[in-house]
Amino acid sequence: MKKDNNKPSSAPRNGASAGAMEKIVSLCKRRGFIFPSSEIYGGLAAIYDYGPYGAELANNIKKAWWKNMVQLREDIVGLDSAIFMHPKIWQASGHVEGFADPLIECKKCHARLRLDHLLEDIGVLADEKMSEAEISKLYKKNKKKIKCSNCGQADFTDVKKFNLLVQSNLGNFTDDWSKDPVYLRGETCQGIYVNYKNVLDSTRVKIPFGIAQIGKAFRNEITARQFIFRTREFEQLEMQYFIVPKDEMKEYEKLKEYRWQFYLDLGINKNNLKWHKHENLVFYAKEAYDIEYNFPFGFKELEGVHARGNYDLSQHAKFSGKNLKYNDQTSGQSYIPHIIESSAGVGRIMLALLSEGYTEEKAGEENRVILKINKELAPIKIAIFPLLKNKPQLVKKARQVYGSLKLYYMCEFDDNGNIGKRYRRQDEIGTPYCLTIDFDSLEKDDVTVRDRDTMKQTRVKIKELKKYFENRL
Ligand code: ATP
Repeated sequence: MKKDNNKPSSAPRNGASAGAMEKIVSLCKRRGFIFPSSEIYGGLAAIYDYGPYGAELANNIKKAWWKNMVQLREDIVGLDSAIFMHPKIWQASGHVEGFADPLIECKKCHARLRLDHLLEDIGVLADEKMSEAEISKLYKKNKKKIKCSNCGQADFTDVKKFNLLVQSNLGNFTDDWSKDPVYLRGETCQGIYVNYKNVLDSTRVKIPFGIAQIGKAFRNEITARQFIFRTREFEQLEMQYFIVPKDEMKEYEKLKEYRWQFYLDLGINKNNLKWHKHENLVFYAKEAYDIEYNFPFGFKELEGVHARGNYDLSQHAKFSGKNLKYNDQTSGQSYIPHIIESSAGVGRIMLALLSEGYTEEKAGEENRVILKINKELAPIKIAIFPLLKNKPQLVKKARQVYGSLKLYYMCEFDDNGNIGKRYRRQDEIGTPYCLTIDFDSLEKDDVTVRDRDTMKQTRVKIKELKKYFENRL
């Protein structure tokens, strides 16, 4: 069979290099990871669809998270609460009042920008939690230094805070439903808080315990330019851990460590991760850190790990009038549990993995692009090729191999174009192994297995393939 002789040279990964973002966006479109939503109608700002490989990757991220957070943890259970919830929940949580970002509009190009981000860019400590008056004051003080990130001009409207909750007319059949809206959830954790008592009463959990949930969240984000980093519809991975008040900081440190390790286990280089401490805490929070990833546009939040005191359950107890205290059999005390949380986004983890894995290297005369992604997360684990499309014996045998391996792994059968092209395509979507069935295979009942990263080729007997991959995948 034709050998893939171009051995790779050891060029460094360039995930965070200049121009990397454009390359990643282009790869995502070209290879079926991510498409702009409603593209044939001109798109819908800040909404994206996952294509065949993106859907696989997103599912694998969610599976890895669920395994880490629920399957491997005796003390954490899963939940899948609805997207729509009673509107009072969003009053109790403070979202109706305070879930707002400060917006200014460039008078020249009409770009709408987040003032807290513009202030941060010039090194001024600011965040979305500041009141309109507070951030206006900061703006006035630093006005001369702030430029429009779109056109470079410096003429803006006054600051206005915009609420991020997305409203709907669910169950409302009047003309003016916006007075009494039902919201699409702005975060998944509220579904966890309001089910805390149900979980407690229906399962064997005891404090300390956690509830984990994966689900969609919706936010009317003002600036939504960094591809899937900030979208208006996105998926969250959240775990809320209910604890004895006095143990809050001890458990918080443990959770921080656990979450950090998760990203290392996904294959992210520790140099591309860092902790960011929140300086301006909301009044009820004990401590708040974010895990940041070194995206091609710099270090930005990947996940929040926060110690929230008893604020969330106290608010829901107050607004619902229900008793949400925990009767602790061990201490004989009754209290509202404190909560520490871990909150990440599927899209941001995906973008981190794409940035981390995107690699260009020289292979002989050619440049090849590889997505060096953790094998467990790769959308396709094994690609199976007959050497030639027009040789029925090869196609038949390749189909047999495909038929037996697809029972265990996500596989892809490909007989399109020459072998070199098929390898390149699989490299770009991060497939760890490609199998080729050639004329020798017909006699020896074996295949060539080619490794994505080393490009090394090995002959393996067909009957031993399952075992071969068991040790590798
Ligand atoms: P940011 O400061 O970047 O707006 P945030 O602090 O508002 O994020 P949280 O409310 O803590 O974010 O949400 C938890 C996680 O959900 C974030 O760490 C991120 O991974 C994800 N997330 C939040 N907003 C978005 C969004 N608009 N698009 C994609 N993911 C998001």
